[in-house]
Amino acid sequence: MILVVDDKKENVYSLKKLLESKDFAVDSALSGEEALKKVLNNDYALIILDVQMPFMDGYEVAETLAGFNKTKDIPIIFLSAVNTDKQFIAKGYASGGIDYLTKPVDSDILLLKVNTFLKLYKQNKKLKEIQNVLKAEIDIRKRVQLELKEKVEQLHYTLEALPLIAFTADENGKIDFVNQKWMQFSESDQVFPKSHPDDKNIEVEFINAIIQNKKLELEVRLQKLGSIEYCYNLLKIIPFKENGTQNKWIGTFTDIDAHKQIEKKKDEFLSIASHELKTPLTSIKAYIQLLARSLKNHESVQIKTYIEKAQLQVGKLNDLISDLLDISKIESGELKLNKKNIDLKITIESCVDTIHQTHPNAVIKVIGNTLPKLIEIDEVRIEQVLLNYLTNALKYSPDNQTINIVREDLDDCVLIKVRDKGIGIPEEKQKNVFDKFYRIEETSLKFQGLGIGLYICADIIKKHHGKYGVKSEPNKGSEFYFSLPFQSLK
Ligand code: ADP
Repeated sequence: MILVVDDKKENVYSLKKLLESKDFAVDSALSGEEALKKVLNNDYALIILDVQMPFMDGYEVAETLAGFNKTKDIPIIFLSAVNTDKQFIAKGYASGGIDYLTKPVDSDILLLKVNTFLKLYKQNKKLKEIQNVLKAEIDIRKRVQLELKEKVEQLHYTLEALPLIAFTADENGKIDFVNQKWMQFSESDQVFPKSHPDDKNIEVEFINAIIQNKKLELEVRLQKLGSIEYCYNLLKIIPFKENGTQNKWIGTFTDIDAHKQIEKKKDEFLSIASHELKTPLTSIKAYIQLLARSLKNHESVQIKTYIEKAQLQVGKLNDLISDLLDISKIESGELKLNKKNIDLKITIESCVDTIHQTHPNAVIKVIGNTLPKLIEIDEVRIEQVLLNYLTNALKYSPDNQTINIVREDLDDCVLIKVRDKGIGIPEEKQKNVFDKFYRIEETSLKFQGLGIGLYICADIIKKHHGKYGVKSEPNKGSEFYFSLPFQSLK
């Protein structure tokens, strides 16, 4: 809106008419004082100001307006009938006007100027708005940066308080913070602590994790500065988001040496104990067999039953000790395969026969492909896996002894599934059942076992380059499966 200020009503009237004829919105004031009030209360894009007015002349009005933030940028065109003198015109400009016209006003010129000034005013306003937006943006950024700095400082304090070696790195893996503990293991805050030459290279593994954008978990042996011994540490490096985008990594080395030593002692004990137990057990087994043979024709049924029971228990003990021996073989990398071309059909049938002998009530169906299939495997070990799956299926299905073995011959492998209708496994526990010594707590008292069978199976299948797993639903049943690739199929 344009404000026309003149003490003469006729002047105001004619200017208003002229401007309104060109669709400008026009307001008016008949004195300097009235003009000031209006300007403070309304928004005007241009003021056309008469110089000659009683009480407060146009210059005073302009000077006052220049003093207020709200009004200082409104363009002013002075109109004067008398002060055509250069000196008055100069005063007009000095008091804040941006143009000076003398009466009688050429209406075309006035309209052209009004148009130009309005355009300039609008552009100016727009620029101011942009400036304000930019300023607000800069303020926000400054605040965010400050908050971020505080958060980083907090993180560093936390890492400093940890009893672990801790560090952070940027998106390229360049270390940008290390805590005090780090300096006990490395001479530089830029170089990872020295790890054992036989362990994986920390830098290489970290770069791989960055490329894949995945967290890294690694067991490494570290050497403390000034020490000759290496201690087991668990290195964990995880990506974290700063400013909403993932661009940092945080890592810790946790000392797990004591735990590792205990585990090593336990493995050593298992290995020694099972070796030592195996020898007398083999003798006991042989003597019971001799006894059974020499009492073959004995009339006492009771004695025969006792011998059969003793044989059964010795068999169980033998299986247990064999499993424990397998564990120590796996730990020391000595579980080796003896692969030959075997017909899988016969292997499966032989397992079914064995199960029928030990579990006379079991109903085992082989479904899917039942044709002969030659595959290069360690027959004894694959039988061990299948028997383990089958005995588990029967053990954990006390109310339904019907088991299905499904064989699927796929393009590159054969898939074997053992399905039961037993107690099933809760989803969150399924990932653990192949772990060493893992047993599901809720059912561990009801069913006997050590929790090592599936661990051995997993190792055997891994050594055959196959896959294994479980699908299960509590109270409905489980499906344990393994695959054997045909890579050496003849
Ligand atoms: P064990 O049977 O001697 O405890 P395993 O290693 O064979 O040891 O099995 C580990 C655990 O997995 C078992 O303790 C049991 O909780 C669970 N499990 C294995 N097979 C089944 C199955 N068919 N149904 C339900 N749970 C099973």
